[in-house]
Amino acid sequence: MSECLIPTLTSNEVVASKSVLPAGWKADLRNLKALDLTQPVMELLRRTTSRLPQDVIDALVKGRAAETEGSRAFNTLNDMVENILLADGNVTPLCQDTGTVIFFVHHPYGLSQRALKQQIREAVAQATKNVWLRPNCVEALSGKNSGNNMDPFHEGHPVIHFEEWDRPEIEIAVMLKGGGCENVGAQYRLPDASIGAGRDLKGVRKCIIDAVVKAQGQGCSPGILGVAIGGDRVTSYEKSKEVILRKLGTKNPNPAMDAFEKELTNDLNTLGIGPMGYGGNTTILGVLVEEMFRHPASFYVSISYMCWSSRRRVMTIGSTGEVSFD
Ligand code: SF4
Repeated sequence: MSECLIPTLTSNEVVASKSVLPAGWKADLRNLKALDLTQPVMELLRRTTSRLPQDVIDALVKGRAAETEGSRAFNTLNDMVENILLADGNVTPLCQDTGTVIFFVHHPYGLSQRALKQQIREAVAQATKNVWLRPNCVEALSGKNSGNNMDPFHEGHPVIHFEEWDRPEIEIAVMLKGGGCENVGAQYRLPDASIGAGRDLKGVRKCIIDAVVKAQGQGCSPGILGVAIGGDRVTSYEKSKEVILRKLGTKNPNPAMDAFEKELTNDLNTLGIGPMGYGGNTTILGVLVEEMFRHPASFYVSISYMCWSSRRRVMTIGSTGEVSFD
């Protein structure tokens, strides 16, 4: 039986001491045109690839406590904790697949999206050189790898979503979305007679259960489900990814959706699929749902499955230029 590991991560001081940012680095937000965020974005990637968010670690540990000590489920979750400790201690990627690199940027008026896009691309190329990211960008038909995580046409990879806001600070969130879990994501068009799903919350529930049953352990369970109800095919899928940025254990602002998320998480964990599909009580770490508006003729339910190695982090450059990571 493997020893039950306590996931104590390296201290913030140790993490900061390995930063690629010079101590005390600050951005000058009074001169947005001259701003260069290449290094802060590199630091964001370094922290994201090797260190899981605390809420995900807590959910894995809670899952392990729900398994019988010595069972395959228990040992698998314990191995995941060991993996987390090794990656964090050595500052090495949590998984060999460092995923599709997806950014969500919020910025004040006056910042050049074109310039920031170039800086983000440069940071991703550097992070790939430093082996914090695996070169994961290949030509669709030939499979030829660009070698630096760049799509030469500047569209496919890295994925960058920009949004201007009224606030003075800049917020850059990143998500590393594994390929295996991406493959088990699904989109449903309701009504769907094949699973008996109508255009209501019961129908949405059937879609989510169907997707998890079909995925089994292949999305590297226990997974986190991002679910969008409504939208068009594109916005629905986009939203289902964006919601995965929300921390596990936080309340959905919509009370009906909050209750739905909690009930579904409990119910999905009775399916018996378990960690990596080995059986057990921990199939899902959480369900995060957002309702959108839709065209009257269309009703989509989009489900993005995020694996247990749910790497996401938010960097904020405050109004006085200081950088923080969450
Ligand atoms: S799905 Fe996640 S944990 Fe599984 S191989 Fe891909 S990145 Fe790694």
